[in-house]
Amino acid sequence: MTRRDSQIAASDSLTPGRISLEKPAAEKIVRRKLSDQVFDRLRELIARGELQPGDPMPSERDLMERFGVGRPAVREALQSMHTMGLITITHGERSRVNELSAGSVLGRVDEVARLLLSAEPEQLDHLKEARGMFECGVVRKAAEMATETDIADLRALVEQQRAQLADRAAFVAADVAFHARIAAITGNPIIAAVSQAMLKWLFQYHDVLLHWSGNEALTLDEHQEIVKLIADRDGAGAAVAMRAHLDRSNPRYQHHG
Ligand SMILES: [Zn+2]
Repeated sequence: MTRRDSQIAASDSLTPGRISLEKPAAEKIVRRKLSDQVFDRLRELIARGELQPGDPMPSERDLMERFGVGRPAVREALQSMHTMGLITITHGERSRVNELSAGSVLGRVDEVARLLLSAEPEQLDHLKEARGMFECGVVRKAAEMATETDIADLRALVEQQRAQLADRAAFVAADVAFHARIAAITGNPIIAAVSQAMLKWLFQYHDVLLHWSGNEALTLDEHQEIVKLIADRDGAGAAVAMRAHLDRSNPRYQHHG
């Protein structure tokens, strides 16, 4: 068989009429949308660092030439990148590559997370459980790593929260800030972002006005105790104190009627 013959034979085997029906699904050739292929190429340019955060994206015309595709495929790919938060499209200006952080990535799923939690109430219990395990691990690590500045900041946050006793919303916000500051001690941006995200998702079920008041003093005592254990480098003790703090306050996060 000549080289040309074998090429023809190979291409013949791809004509629809000759494909054996028994072929496993994995072998099937999937025709992909042009815009998806453009999207993959653009994502690679970002992954390789050829396009850096803050850089303007090449013009539609440049991309059409570079990839040999029409304007609709380029536009659709750019729109997908915008929807995924990889670039920002501003009318009248060149699109730009976004800076990604753990916080910005998790922030993009906020709406979906809210939907999941309201559509399936049992997910709220799963979230409480996950947050409990997470916060206990985080505080243990924070007790190992905390600097004098970290400890001074935590003490200041407890006092700031004490100053908000008359304002329930501010009191709860100070609570969130306290837990976020503990997560920041780990120096791990993913831990900090996940901790913040879980608290934010939980927070929407925190019926501040109905459930919070009456336990402010207890909350402050618990926070103070946690800071003391972190300052003592007592990771195990801090984890136990955190567990008790969350178990006490967890029933306050509930679906509103
Ligand atoms: Zn707290």
